[in-house]
Amino acid sequence: MNETLFQDLQQMDQLLQQTKDISSAFLAGIDKLPVDVAKGAFTPLSLPKQGVGASQALNIFKTRYEHMLAGNAGARYWGFVTGGATPAAIAGDWLTSVYDMNAANKDGASFYIEGETISFLRQLFGLPDAYTGVFTSGATMSNFSGLAIARQWLGNRYGTDVAQEGIAALPGIKILSCTPHSSTVKSMAMLGIGRNALVKIPSLPGRESVDLTALTAYLEAHTGEPLIFVAAAGTVNTVDFDDLQSLAVLKQQYGFYLHVDAAFGGFAACHPAYRNLLQGWEVADSITIDAHKWLNVPYDSAMIFTRHPKLQMAAFRNVGASYLPDPDEFFVYSNYTPENSRRLRALPAWHTLMAYGANGYADIVENNVRLTKKLGALIEASDTFRLLAPVNLCVACFTLNVPAGELPAAIKQFLQTMNENGKVVMTPTVYQGIPGIRAALVNWRTTAEDVDLVWEEMSQLISVH
Ligand SMILES: *Cc1c(COP(=O)(O)O)cnc(C)c1O
Repeated sequence: MNETLFQDLQQMDQLLQQTKDISSAFLAGIDKLPVDVAKGAFTPLSLPKQGVGASQALNIFKTRYEHMLAGNAGARYWGFVTGGATPAAIAGDWLTSVYDMNAANKDGASFYIEGETISFLRQLFGLPDAYTGVFTSGATMSNFSGLAIARQWLGNRYGTDVAQEGIAALPGIKILSCTPHSSTVKSMAMLGIGRNALVKIPSLPGRESVDLTALTAYLEAHTGEPLIFVAAAGTVNTVDFDDLQSLAVLKQQYGFYLHVDAAFGGFAACHPAYRNLLQGWEVADSITIDAHKWLNVPYDSAMIFTRHPKLQMAAFRNVGASYLPDPDEFFVYSNYTPENSRRLRALPAWHTLMAYGANGYADIVENNVRLTKKLGALIEASDTFRLLAPVNLCVACFTLNVPAGELPAAIKQFLQTMNENGKVVMTPTVYQGIPGIRAALVNWRTTAEDVDLVWEEMSQLISVH
């Protein structure tokens, strides 16, 4: 054994203690850190010929990077849709590295842990047992997986096996959607369906939700064609939902594949007051849910649920090596996911679900929604800001009250200064042609004091402006 490795092996306990101390110090001060990434000059090091050992590596890491670390897992990172990590999720994530299990395997702890976690999640979301689920690295890979199943499902109907014959065997696939997340379009590129196969169906007036009359007209005009509808259950700008119940009826009538991107909107199902937004999703062929957003587990974690595990296996089965178990005889996760060897992503989720339960997640959702509405009310009552849409759940989408011509520059300046000041991060957007700002609150840590602090910051910036 390499001498340095041997020494580290003897000092494992001190090393974990040192790591724990660094973690504790960081977490204790997370609210005081700048929320956005601190910028600075950077010169990359060369690979050391002689290693320094783990303890010294930690020291060098601190010297080089500590000043750049930001509180993006903290209470006031409101850009994109960004969760943090609950205490139990951090514990689970640490242990995932310690155990370093390959979650591709067919039995043993990792197999049972992932199965149990998926079952917890089905219960949390009220999804029927008919849905199987697996963990992926993020909602992008979940959408990718859902569309891979869709491709296979369509192939089935048109008498071909796309995973076997290739996408050329099934020409003319169209993916219909009203307000698709960019990752759907990215997945279309990765799957060989092509970005141009996207057909945008108009929204209802003033909404991001699909106009069912326009959709019905499209379906009528294209009967018999291989169609997938990607429904939004929570758009990133206004957390709008497609009418899933009506989509379920249309699906019955026209026979398209229905994939629901519920990356963060799926968490509405955790709370009785919002569950109705998802009514109808239980007929979807596949459902994407992100875990590193509202579940508040560390990156990288999401799930794909489907009613078609056989088609999922047809798409992802890993054949061609004699040492692999027969996929028809043994359930192996790697036959259902883009990856073969996999990190046990279920473990942080298991820990946080066990620690906080269904009530804990209902509380996180309720708290975030209440705080977003509070921010929305402050914006609505002010002369300097203006909501671009009513606050739905966890996103406030707003703009500055300045003449339209000045708006793009004013938004850019406002966001740049605010994000650089480091108390909060928000991201720019364009909603219905109007440049605006999004604040998305899905972190378990956020409190009313954070909203007050941010409002003070926003008001000050405007008065300076
Ligand atoms: C965040 C998000 C995605 C992509 O998720 P990643 O975790 O970044 O891969 C997809 N769909 C929706 C609606 C999202 O909000």
